[in-house]
Amino acid sequence: MEHFGENGFFARPEEDDPGSRQVVDVIRERILSGELAPGDRLVERTLAAELGLSRIPVRDALNILRGEGFVTAYPNRGMLVTKLGEQDIEEFFSVLEALDVLVAQHAANNASLRELNQMRDGILRAEDPARQATAMPQGRCCEDFHGSLLKSAKNTLLSNMMAPLAGRLRHLLQSNQRPELLHAQHVDLLDAVRGGNCNTAAEQARLHVRTSRDIWLELTSQAGAAVRLGATARTPRTVLA
Ligand SMILES: [Zn+2]
Repeated sequence: MEHFGENGFFARPEEDDPGSRQVVDVIRERILSGELAPGDRLVERTLAAELGLSRIPVRDALNILRGEGFVTAYPNRGMLVTKLGEQDIEEFFSVLEALDVLVAQHAANNASLRELNQMRDGILRAEDPARQATAMPQGRCCEDFHGSLLKSAKNTLLSNMMAPLAGRLRHLLQSNQRPELLHAQHVDLLDAVRGGNCNTAAEQARLHVRTSRDIWLELTSQAGAAVRLGATARTPRTVLA
């Protein structure tokens, strides 16, 4: 199984234990694949039996997924798989845009030369044709880039605020259908950060999130994709030209 988090971005405090992280990944994957559908009840005891675990790691995992927005708790019904609608997706990208702009601005001010060089090396690795055979390594390069950028911003509160978005963001990066476009935007964003220009970095970050949102909306409008994403069956309206 792919694992994430060495760069500190996707490793939330609750997920430090690899076992716990794995349980979160397994349940999230079941939700994203549609095996667990929106509205399905998530029963600790049943999941624990299926996964051959005690109830405590399953409870912890469900709480993490609740923080990520994949699971909703109802007073008398327990935990249900969240029904994500068009509005949820727009809310997610609106918050992501605000935070990513801040990340870019702080990185432009605070990134060290060493961090900038590491990010440049990561981008060069992503350009290596040997790594472009499948979508997963590209998604991983994308995760690494954003993780490094956040780290270089050196703002703990901002890192904590990004944490609940990590699960959906990870899925977004893995379903990346326009790798060349997003990669080119990473190059532009890093150039702006390297130049120490806050405003340009902010604009590049904003453009990048809006492009990602368009790609996501395009994906959800494709037949069957709404189910995979746990979204409603409504066709998302296009929010950007
Ligand atoms: Zn990106």
